[in-house]
Amino acid sequence: MLWSPWHGCHKCSPGCLNCYVFYQDKRYEKDSSVVTRSKTNFNLPLKKDRAGNYKIASGSEVATCFTSDFFIEEADAWRGEVWEIIKKRPDVKFLICTKRIERFESCIPADWGEGYDNVAIAVTGECQIKADERVPILLNIKAKKKFIFVSPILEEVNLEKYLASGKIDMVSVGGESYSNARPCNFDWVKDIKRQCDKYGVEFDFHQTGSNFIMNGKTYKIKHRDEYSQAKKGEKLLQNIQD
Ligand code: SF4
Repeated sequence: MLWSPWHGCHKCSPGCLNCYVFYQDKRYEKDSSVVTRSKTNFNLPLKKDRAGNYKIASGSEVATCFTSDFFIEEADAWRGEVWEIIKKRPDVKFLICTKRIERFESCIPADWGEGYDNVAIAVTGECQIKADERVPILLNIKAKKKFIFVSPILEEVNLEKYLASGKIDMVSVGGESYSNARPCNFDWVKDIKRQCDKYGVEFDFHQTGSNFIMNGKTYKIKHRDEYSQAKKGEKLLQNIQD
């Protein structure tokens, strides 16, 4: 489930080149670079249905700000309210994935302590340079769960020294979507799976991307099939390992 308390962003990284937010907003002639607070969904986790039940059921996993960045500057005035909402739903797990982890310390609430039990912090490491910038910061912050998203994967990425720290709970890999998508090579995915297996870190292959290379051949994958094809690839990797 997705929760977007604000919308809009600025491209700040190689992975942003074909950002789907800009792609989708363009179709409606909307300016993605203007960051706006959601009028309808800002407090989504607290909304209830007519029967008085939360619209987001207990036990749900909620990914925040996938049409923006949780730590973007324009949201500084609104973030405190969002932390309060997150605190009011300890029964829901929140994922915060960012390309701005360097802003983390200045954006956490006063009572963050060792991290809220229901919040996982993830950084994007779509290429080696960005992984080497962001993952060391992630290792040093306080958070109950820490993930790395290699997405959209742009090249071979070596995470071994970070996985060896024992501080990373999961690595999730995905390819880029839509017509201009840069290719996702299954060999890169397999190599990250190998690294995760070596250090006992959970691995997830969440989407193939639109241009998927396997055994030297490029496959054009329809966007709606990217997840299911990735799950087939994940199964393939499991079988190879078995
Ligand atoms: S940080 Fe995320 S939402 Fe923002 S431009 Fe980059 S890819 Fe898009």
